[in-house]
Amino acid sequence: MKKKNVDLICDIAELISLAENGRDRKELLQKVVTSVAKHMLADVCSIYIYDEDDRQLTLRATQGLDEAAIGVVKLRLGEGITGRAVRELRPICVGTASQSASYKFFPGIHEEEYEAFLAVPILRGLRRIGALVVQARETNYFTSNDVKALRAIAAQLATMIENVQLLKEARDKAEAPVVPVAKKVTTASILRGRSASTGTARGTAYTLDSANSESCALPDPDAPPHSFEDFETAVGKTASQIEQLQRQTSEDLADVAVLIFSAHLLILEDEQFTGRIGNLIQTGTPALKAIATVVNEYVEVFSKSSMPLIREKVLDVKDLGNRLTRNLINEEAGECDYRSQIIIAHELLPSDILKLSAENVEGFIVSSGVTSHNAIICRSLGIPMVAISRELADGIPDGEELLMDAEQGIIYLRPGAEVYAKYRELDEAWKVMHNASDMKAKTKTKCGERVHIYANINLLSDLKPAREFKAEGVGLYRSEFPFIVRNDFPPEEEQYIIYKKLVEQMEGKPVTFRTLDIGGDKMLSYYSNVSEANPFLGMRAIRFSLQNRDIFCQQLRAFLRAGAGGGTRIMFPLISSVDDFVEARSIVYECMDELEEEGIPFSRDTQLGVMMELPSAVEVVDELAMEADFLSIGSNDLIQYMLAVDRTNEQVSKLYLAHHPAILRAINRIVSASETHGKDVSICGDLSADPRMLPFLLGVGLRRFSIDIVNALTVQRLVNSISLEEAEEMANAMLDFGRISEIEAYLIDCNLVDAAEA
Ligand code: PEP
Ligand code: MG
Repeated sequence: MKKKNVDLICDIAELISLAENGRDRKELLQKVVTSVAKHMLADVCSIYIYDEDDRQLTLRATQGLDEAAIGVVKLRLGEGITGRAVRELRPICVGTASQSASYKFFPGIHEEEYEAFLAVPILRGLRRIGALVVQARETNYFTSNDVKALRAIAAQLATMIENVQLLKEARDKAEAPVVPVAKKVTTASILRGRSASTGTARGTAYTLDSANSESCALPDPDAPPHSFEDFETAVGKTASQIEQLQRQTSEDLADVAVLIFSAHLLILEDEQFTGRIGNLIQTGTPALKAIATVVNEYVEVFSKSSMPLIREKVLDVKDLGNRLTRNLINEEAGECDYRSQIIIAHELLPSDILKLSAENVEGFIVSSGVTSHNAIICRSLGIPMVAISRELADGIPDGEELLMDAEQGIIYLRPGAEVYAKYRELDEAWKVMHNASDMKAKTKTKCGERVHIYANINLLSDLKPAREFKAEGVGLYRSEFPFIVRNDFPPEEEQYIIYKKLVEQMEGKPVTFRTLDIGGDKMLSYYSNVSEANPFLGMRAIRFSLQNRDIFCQQLRAFLRAGAGGGTRIMFPLISSVDDFVEARSIVYECMDELEEEGIPFSRDTQLGVMMELPSAVEVVDELAMEADFLSIGSNDLIQYMLAVDRTNEQVSKLYLAHHPAILRAINRIVSASETHGKDVSICGDLSADPRMLPFLLGVGLRRFSIDIVNALTVQRLVNSISLEEAEEMANAMLDFGRISEIEAYLIDCNLVDAAEA
């Protein structure tokens, strides 16, 4: 028989189904050890859980050792091979355990028969959660592939186990009650904010403010009474709805959202949640009131928590409260989700956006400023999002009828028939401009010059529109989303599966991977770095990767392996000097050498590029162009850093100007240097699809545009309508101006913007 550990990792669905079917933690852990032992043909598989307070690991599930040892066998941190793996935060694989100095065997549980020993820590970032251990009679039984497989499984397990622990900690640390915030209802019929994603949304307002204790509607006093059995039926219906959502999301968003509803299921089977509601009902509290009481208690506790990981669960509890209530009053399954609703939230996490998107939300109004990855994720999912001030958001009453124009950042309250009619027309016009079947395979200027349109990919679900809009490849894959939404750094194997899918689905077209760009406003909740006073100027992007070589190498190896067939490129974000690039490149070469030694296929010809996003990089662009294989202009950050304007700060959004003369000249310099040194150059920030700036970009010599692919038809038609001569004339004129006002006047003169817009 052959080990099937690769099957086990690839078939992450198997783990998910374990999580769905075994909602009790004990049962889940037991199913995991049984399944891992079976797939890896291991004689023993065990899980130990770590307790931070007494710094001990306790055996919690085992297949192969004596069951009586569960809960009894304990190891101190550093004790035995398992304790060492957890202390040192790394897997330890031993061929002959009896000869290892660290080996500690427990008499009476029949451990002495097993010689091969592999212990992998279960971690969330740097936080210790436990260990997954396999043992076999045969010496030297476990291989490096087994280590990778077990790491991938341990990463999945971390999420499940930690959710259970967090719930317990949150309850233990319950603090003083929250005072509900009274709403001052607005009388305005139009509110203005800032566009964060595009599109139009219609629906009723629903506030997800975690500081408001009225989080679950109190029941109508005239509602008919519900029995305990009715409640049990509602719990069953809620569980199957969530399981269905989990399955669907895992299918649609496999790269980012695996197990995203697991906390819902854990809370639902928690005795202190569902059990307590049931007790209240059995002791005479009306069922709807019992749900509202317990949900509001949980929301209060969670929202007051100092731990971000617990505050994240507020949405899950509210969601459960709504579903239980609606299922109890027997609404249709669809009415239990967020269809026909526009969510108003002070703060949203990328995981909230994914969950609410799976539950059919129409749009988002956010009042804490929009982080760039939230905006990007909404655009990928096609969900309109507007950012407005806290004061304005607080004035929108729940249940208010809204129409939200996310393109312009306008929210209409109680819109009249004319507003609806106008937006029906605009929606029709939008559809015409975004009809993929009108897209031609090749893009050319009026004079016949070839221009290439590539797709920016954030989630794997973006690949379908990329193919439909005939993208010529992927010009930017933002690799951070699987890192941001999950609960831990995804190991190499898991990343490889995602990147491979990306390459396969582009069917031989070129793919440019960007290494991890976290930090700035893209924080990882599980990475406990010191908080920074100026995160945009701190440990972001390539700086993070160079400082965390282990994480960097895992990603590079996964990229290289996925690109084994050729045609893929790797680029580094936020490069500030030639030295940064050379250091990153040398690490790529080391990974290549390692892969070669291990006999793992990859392509030596993988091109390595620099993202031009910093003023310092512009100053040394000649040297960078000499060293790198290609340059890609990240205009979003280039504008932010050149103009010192935070791209997420609404208060200074008027100063965030792509047409600032300094930006135009910087772009011109980058393109000229690339031409001088014969290197490929492209642009992948939002500017690359900005119709006002396209003539300039063409005029300075850019021919490769990586864009949010839904805008491809607009870009193609614009390119078709202009000749190079016209574009060059415009670009030269714009480069001559020294003032913003002169450039604005010129853009108005050329009919590229109307006066009101400028
Ligand atoms: C950019 O900065 O232009 C870019 C494409 O990167 P991101 O938006 O992901 O920071
Ligand atoms: Mg950037």
